[in-house]
Amino acid sequence: MLIVMDAAATAEDVRRVVQTVESLGLAAHPIPGSQRTAIGITGNRGAVEPAAFENLPGVAEVIPVSAPYKLVSREAKKENTVVSVGGVPVGGKQLVVVAGPCAIESEAQAMETAHAVRSAGALLYRGGAFKPRTSPYSFQGLGEQGLKVLAKVRSETGLPIVTEVLDTETAELVAEYADCLQVGARNMQNFSLLRRLGRLGKPVLLKRGMSATIEELLLCAEYLLAEGNYQVILCERGVRTFSDHTRNTLDLSAVPYVQRISHLPILVDPSHGTGKRQKVLPLSRAAVAVGADGLLIEVHPHPEQALSDGPQALLPDMFVELMRQVRQLAPVVGREA
Ligand code: PEP
Ligand code: MN
Repeated sequence: MLIVMDAAATAEDVRRVVQTVESLGLAAHPIPGSQRTAIGITGNRGAVEPAAFENLPGVAEVIPVSAPYKLVSREAKKENTVVSVGGVPVGGKQLVVVAGPCAIESEAQAMETAHAVRSAGALLYRGGAFKPRTSPYSFQGLGEQGLKVLAKVRSETGLPIVTEVLDTETAELVAEYADCLQVGARNMQNFSLLRRLGRLGKPVLLKRGMSATIEELLLCAEYLLAEGNYQVILCERGVRTFSDHTRNTLDLSAVPYVQRISHLPILVDPSHGTGKRQKVLPLSRAAVAVGADGLLIEVHPHPEQALSDGPQALLPDMFVELMRQVRQLAPVVGREA
């Protein structure tokens, strides 16, 4: 259920509603909007009786929310959420390109890539220090040493850092270094990790699981919001289908679908979505055209030597061309880049 406050409701009115919700043993989540505050209610097992709230001062409307997700829904918050990642707004007018290698392999590789993507126009840097690999024998990332390299990249280039967190054990450690914590496709439904990140309060980039529906993706985001963390960015990165000409099938229709029912920003990752370097540019154009809030792009100065995801990594000059085209396309869909 959602309680929508009147535009003229006072802070005291909001407090009274929150107290009433809590007195029923439920949790109240006030969501301030530009015009009015909405208060989401969670923790109920069955339907909540609207009569308990309808007549409280300042209450405009009590809406039963039929969708299983509440706090992530547009019903809860009309305006788009803009998440600040180290000062870079994600979800606003500016299209945000996050770029960098799949994995941090060495300081030289990380730094060379960072300078290349920054001068081409990337606003955020990505790179994994803890890598979720299909095989336990594949390169697992440099761990804390990789995080230290990321911190150096940030201090040398000014680019805020997006990096993956694999488990609850390392969540605090990764959060010390990262500006945004990436939850990978394989971990989308790791509910204890989501709860932990919900409490940590750092921005989270939540990637769609490889066989997850949009409803499942939004419910995972709901775990983060229900713990009090509203700084959530979604990411479409392709799903597994029978089609095998690309690594995954990039589901671009997810973007307008999510934007209709949720206020959270959504990025598109054509690198994992296609798994093929030559497909990254055309699918990036399509992602911008369909209205994505930004892109997640893997770049490597020497992809043939990459320790993970080499075949999908763009060479720096390909990334320059991608940025050039994105900059041209952005105004067509009312964005800046
Ligand atoms: C990544 O971003 O490098 C990654 C492992 O992505 P995904 O979780 O989408 O496979
Ligand atoms: Mn990768």
